[in-house]
Amino acid sequence: MTERLYYRDSFLYVFDAEVREVAENPRPAVILDRSAFYPTSGGQVFDTGEITLPGSNQKMRVTEVGETEDGHVVHYLDAPLKDIKPGTRVRGLIDPTRRRDHMQQHSGQHVLSAAFVRLFDMHTVSFHMADEYCSIDLDTPTLTKEQIESAERLANEIILENRAVEIRFVTREEAGKLGLRKFPVADRDELRIIDIHDIDLSACGGTHVNQTGQIGCILLRKTERVRQGWRVEFVAGQRAVATARRDFTTLTEAAAMFSAHIYDVPPQARKSLDEIRSLRKQREQSQEELADAQAAAMLAGTSEANGRKLVVRTFSDRDVNSIKLLAQKLTRLATNVVALLATTSPQPSLVFAQSPGQPLDMGSLMKETMPSLGGRGGGTKDMAQGGVPKIDGIEAALAAIAKRI
Ligand SMILES: [Zn+2]
Repeated sequence: MTERLYYRDSFLYVFDAEVREVAENPRPAVILDRSAFYPTSGGQVFDTGEITLPGSNQKMRVTEVGETEDGHVVHYLDAPLKDIKPGTRVRGLIDPTRRRDHMQQHSGQHVLSAAFVRLFDMHTVSFHMADEYCSIDLDTPTLTKEQIESAERLANEIILENRAVEIRFVTREEAGKLGLRKFPVADRDELRIIDIHDIDLSACGGTHVNQTGQIGCILLRKTERVRQGWRVEFVAGQRAVATARRDFTTLTEAAAMFSAHIYDVPPQARKSLDEIRSLRKQREQSQEELADAQAAAMLAGTSEANGRKLVVRTFSDRDVNSIKLLAQKLTRLATNVVALLATTSPQPSLVFAQSPGQPLDMGSLMKETMPSLGGRGGGTKDMAQGGVPKIDGIEAALAAIAKRI
């Protein structure tokens, strides 16, 4: 079992150790007699850093850290192992920025979970640390905005009070006497307890700060209903500052579009959406009116032959919906209209329609026409539409159908 140096000191960034085992497959890895590297476990992700060979230039990047079932910490390396074998003395260097970030997030979680218990008796059932944010799942059927804000306020007060965060090693019995309520499932008798003065007592193997002030601050973000209760996303320390900075940049960009103050973005956005909705309605109305007028003019210019008015027309500047609308208007203005319409842009399309009661079948006509144009389409007896890949042949196809029917 690897001696875990971070158990007693989370601020130990440099350590010396002896190689116990090396592996090359599936990727280079090394096991040491002792290590300050934290392996992924308990919701917290691994440390990164370097392993060096004192007295030589050899430097290997530790890209991931895991643990074996029997408690060995495995350091995965980015380069093959040269001159390293069991017994070799090496030096480990932890990436301090990443470690500090993890300490802030993880300690922030203890404080936040404690705040939810203290205020609302809501217990944390799981903790997750991702690259951008962390989350806890609370065992509660409801969670209000006010409760979120109160918990955030209390957590930040505890941070500001700079309470001591102590690491204790005790037996299960001693832990019970100290007031520990949630015991880990393990056969070991010795427990590692994290004691945040007068607010939280947890059995935990993670890396933590020494004083709550080192967490910096905590910012609660999204909340969502999950299977076991409510999930609360949060960021602590430098992550909170980076997140607030990104929020501000995003809001500033949005505010500039409206030439408004950032706090006026929501009403401005609402106003713009209302305008868009109203303009859309106006446009639909105008299109209807335009289609009515166009249909009337087209019919007036079409003479009757064989008892019906056949309108054949190809447009180059309107979408399929507008020629469909025009076809509807044409076939409703009179009882004997057949319309063979097409558009070449933006998307080459065909629309066939007839006044209700006319004997042709537009759906079949469309299906028969499509193969020669390489497209697909169909519809009902009175109205059909189809899309084709290119404009070639559209007008010729319409002329052929007009001749045939
Ligand atoms: Zn912890």
